[in-house]
Amino acid sequence: MEKHTPYFKVLDAFQQSSSCGLCLLEKDALRSYLEAFLYENVNDPKSRAILKASRGYCSSHTDELVGRHDVLALSILYRDQCLEADSFLEKNKKFKNQYKKWNQHEFCPACKQAQQIRKHYLGILIQGLQEEELRTAFLNHFQICMKHFLLITDQLQDSSFKKQIVQKMQMQLKFLAQELDQYCQDIQKNANGSLLDSPYHSSWKRAIEAVAGQPGVFIV
Ligand SMILES: [Zn+2]
Ligand SMILES: [Zn+2]
Repeated sequence: MEKHTPYFKVLDAFQQSSSCGLCLLEKDALRSYLEAFLYENVNDPKSRAILKASRGYCSSHTDELVGRHDVLALSILYRDQCLEADSFLEKNKKFKNQYKKWNQHEFCPACKQAQQIRKHYLGILIQGLQEEELRTAFLNHFQICMKHFLLITDQLQDSSFKKQIVQKMQMQLKFLAQELDQYCQDIQKNANGSLLDSPYHSSWKRAIEAVAGQPGVFIV
């Protein structure tokens, strides 16, 4: 396999990250996409036309944009949206099935981008797992959420490797469940005034990420 920057990004994510490497890569790539929109594309007529057709971004991606506090870009974007809403009301004065009609629009462009990003990194990982270096990093760190894990196993051709990682994943999930059992017991002991702290106090956070992926990643 010829190795390029994306391969090394995937390798780095699996060597360094303390949570799912693919979630991390997707989040970073989508953050860059939204930043590029705020700083450059908000004035681009083509991008604005796409956003008019999609009624802006979906609520999750709008929240992400709002969190970046670029009031000028958001004002430009939502000026367009206000005018679109006004024009919709102007054209639809019968007031029948309006809600349904207003919600018939193109898919959120950030959601579309997120799907492309997912496909891109997943493809690099699947191909890269044939390389000893990436395979070792993946197995040694084994930071992968259930959703990305299933996307990987759905595409993996190597059945003995697939079997190996399924066993590893099951062990990891059972181990997390045991930690949570222990934590529930510790909380009860604490309620009785017999324990001040538990070594498993953050296990529930890791369990949520292990099952659902990192926040904001699996919107689509
Ligand atoms: Zn993930
Ligand atoms: Zn979206």
